[in-house]
Amino acid sequence: MVRQRLSMNPEEYLDSEIETIRPDGLRALQEQKLAKQLDYLFARSPFYQDKLRAAGLRREHLRTLADLARVPLTTKEELRDSQHASPPLGRHACAEMVDVIRIQSSTGTTGRPSLVGLTRRDAEGWTRVTARSFYTQGVRPADIVMHGASLTLFAGGLPVKDAIERIGATFVPVGTGASEKLVLIAQALHANVLHSTPSYAIYLADYVRRESKMDPRDLGIRKIVCGAEPGGGIPAVRAKIQEAWGARVTEGMGNADMLPVIFSECRHQSGMHYNAHEYVYCEILDPESGQVLPIEPGVSGELIYSSLDRECVPLLRFRTRDRVTVLGTSCECGRTGFKLRCLGRTDDMLIVLGVNIFPSAVRDVVSSFRPRTTGEVQILLEAPGPGVKPPLRIVAEFGDGAGPSSELQAEIENRIKDVLTVSSAVQLVPPGTLPRFEMKGQLVKKLYES
Ligand SMILES: [Zn+2]
Repeated sequence: MVRQRLSMNPEEYLDSEIETIRPDGLRALQEQKLAKQLDYLFARSPFYQDKLRAAGLRREHLRTLADLARVPLTTKEELRDSQHASPPLGRHACAEMVDVIRIQSSTGTTGRPSLVGLTRRDAEGWTRVTARSFYTQGVRPADIVMHGASLTLFAGGLPVKDAIERIGATFVPVGTGASEKLVLIAQALHANVLHSTPSYAIYLADYVRRESKMDPRDLGIRKIVCGAEPGGGIPAVRAKIQEAWGARVTEGMGNADMLPVIFSECRHQSGMHYNAHEYVYCEILDPESGQVLPIEPGVSGELIYSSLDRECVPLLRFRTRDRVTVLGTSCECGRTGFKLRCLGRTDDMLIVLGVNIFPSAVRDVVSSFRPRTTGEVQILLEAPGPGVKPPLRIVAEFGDGAGPSSELQAEIENRIKDVLTVSSAVQLVPPGTLPRFEMKGQLVKKLYES
């Protein structure tokens, strides 16, 4: 009873009604939203008019959330082609340019960025959910947030500024490549929150020790909110960041085409809550069969998003290529949004003799040997993936004072075999050998010409 009363503390939530909504209430709300969004798409999206007609689907075929399973998936490549065929925003854009108040971009792997437009209503939705997500992670009005990430075009930039300001916290746009400035300003302001990638949080701790000759803990950062790559939720990586900073690490996850932060973790650190109830509908697909899987603990697959309230670029069944595992459907915090963890991008996934391996999982195993390792790791690929001929070649740094022992090497290889069920060849190198990245970590090194 006490726990229930505590969890209903109104200060726990930014939008308590939505965040604690019951499943049938959520379904009713989302079906009502979906109906409106579908009316809009059938009337205004040349891209979906064609796509749905080709699939033999008319408006009356799509009445419930479950009916969405009949809609063909939308890929990033289709959006890119659509934008190329009909610049500037593509055949999937449904708003007039005069109604677009901002352009963001989603960087692809191919270099040419794709543009994402927002109407005033879209921007309000982004701010609302992103603010909810940062509030879930414990950001409060009295906090001073150092933004150690890019601001320009990047979905984790200006929309995060809007969200932090909506909460009423103080937003400090330091950006990237400015570690010295970040440390000085954080000290001057007594900043207590850092928003960055997990790679940067690790890099910055090293920087503070090396250049500022300080223990990062003395800087006073007590909350680190991570995003843009998996890592903040990987137990060994999280432990490393928390230990270095004396801070609580939580993570968030979103998508540049859909909404900047759709999932975020509460202070119980048990997976990221679904936070975009009235804006983005989620499905999880079995990667082999393409079937929709029930959202329940232990289920793992590719995350698929559908817009429920978007004016400029509403998307149906958009493939994220994010591979996720559902961790729970309830929480001590009282939020009812299901919780998940992201294992990595399906594009990053390697397949060793039929076994799916995410580079982040390899890092997790190597990190579990700290302090005998530093936790830094790189996978060497001799030929383009995802198929890799065993053994998986891994370079790992031994820890300060540990030395490169053949026992350690064998122990790591054995644990990789136990945990990930693949054989590996581990090469140990001195601490500091592998490159540290300010932005996203690069866990795979290609030894071939691409
Ligand atoms: Zn929670």
